[in-house]
Amino acid sequence: MKDMNILVINCGSSSLKFQLINSKSEEVIAKGLCERIGIEGSQIAYTPAGGEKIVTVTPMENHTTAIRLVLNALTDEKCGVVKSLDEIGAVGHRIVHGGEKFASSTLINEEVLKAIETCNDLAPLHNPANLIGIRACQELMPDTPMAAVFDTAFHQTMPKEAYLYGIPYHYYEDYRVRRYGFHGTSHSYVSHRAACMLDKSYEELKIIVCHLGNGASISAVKNGKCVDTSMGLTPLEGLIMGTRSGDLDPAIIEYLCNKENKNVHEILNVLNKESGVLGLSGGFSSDFRDLEKAYNEGQEKAVRTMKAFAYRVAKYIGAYTAAMNGVDAICFTAGIGENNPLIRTMISSYLGYLGIALDEDANSKRGEEVLISTGGSKVKVLVIPTNEELAIARETVELVG
Ligand code: ADP
Repeated sequence: MKDMNILVINCGSSSLKFQLINSKSEEVIAKGLCERIGIEGSQIAYTPAGGEKIVTVTPMENHTTAIRLVLNALTDEKCGVVKSLDEIGAVGHRIVHGGEKFASSTLINEEVLKAIETCNDLAPLHNPANLIGIRACQELMPDTPMAAVFDTAFHQTMPKEAYLYGIPYHYYEDYRVRRYGFHGTSHSYVSHRAACMLDKSYEELKIIVCHLGNGASISAVKNGKCVDTSMGLTPLEGLIMGTRSGDLDPAIIEYLCNKENKNVHEILNVLNKESGVLGLSGGFSSDFRDLEKAYNEGQEKAVRTMKAFAYRVAKYIGAYTAAMNGVDAICFTAGIGENNPLIRTMISSYLGYLGIALDEDANSKRGEEVLISTGGSKVKVLVIPTNEELAIARETVELVG
């Protein structure tokens, strides 16, 4: 593997996460987060490997200022990790929506930027921010190659029957209304790790990946290709999430508009920001640490919420087992999947028909790669911490290598 430092950038509308990763050792050399970009009270948190986190409150009028601060921190005499920007070989950008245009990562040039821009209306909150991040990096590092790694790309292998909605076909032809899916980098990384852990060929396995974080999605990966995933045109569809509703009867939207005297936009805001686990628990919390504690105290609001969450995941596992005519491995990842043994137990309690039994000791672990099904389980259940930044760095090296 080529030895270079890759700067991974995940740019949101007012935040920017970064990691500098060495491609050979795959170690994180430094990482950090800029928050409240363009808003009063902005700050950068920067942590060099083996060092303390340094938080600096400083004005950031835009993303270019934020990236300049990141580059200054990385090359700083005292706390920096590289001598000059020449030691950054390439930049990998996380891009949320690549529409149907991008089925894989790509090196960035003007044509690619234009193509990403045409996907903006599919992800109006994310893509414009991603593009701003690229432009800002190009301004400050004009000679450094940059790659775009898309959240949607891994899912582009889905067959038509999985990505089409049951609506007039011309909506697909005219406006590309279809299932795209998100978290693709994570689903790809975790399914590849599963094959490694099981010491089997990736192309011969049927894998279900449950990415359970604040945003949550599930995917079916058959013979090395994604064949279905739960998020849709937008990340609102599918599982019950931290604050997103996931699947519901679309007629509920008009019904609630009438009852609450709100417009569609306002109700969609409720479905995105006030629903899911937060909404179901009556506004108690969107955080599973709070829910787990309340569940163990027998509080009904947490019991109903966690049960509904687990049931939805189990239902999708059933559907994807059918879609693939079987399953070899089920993987849990992301904040909840990696760290919440209770929810893994609750989901697995629906999977006896697959011959699944959990090893309680193994399942009590949090945040590490571990097989949690018993030796006798025909279908293997795995916990695999996701690492989207490393996956982006690897893709970037491959492209510039
Ligand atoms: P996202 O990246 O989508 O914002 P995460 O993958 O960080 O979300 O997941 C957030 C969820 O994971 C929260 O509900 C939180 O309770 C849970 N979580 C994260 N870390 C831990 C932990 N160490 N122990 C228990 N739960 C955790």
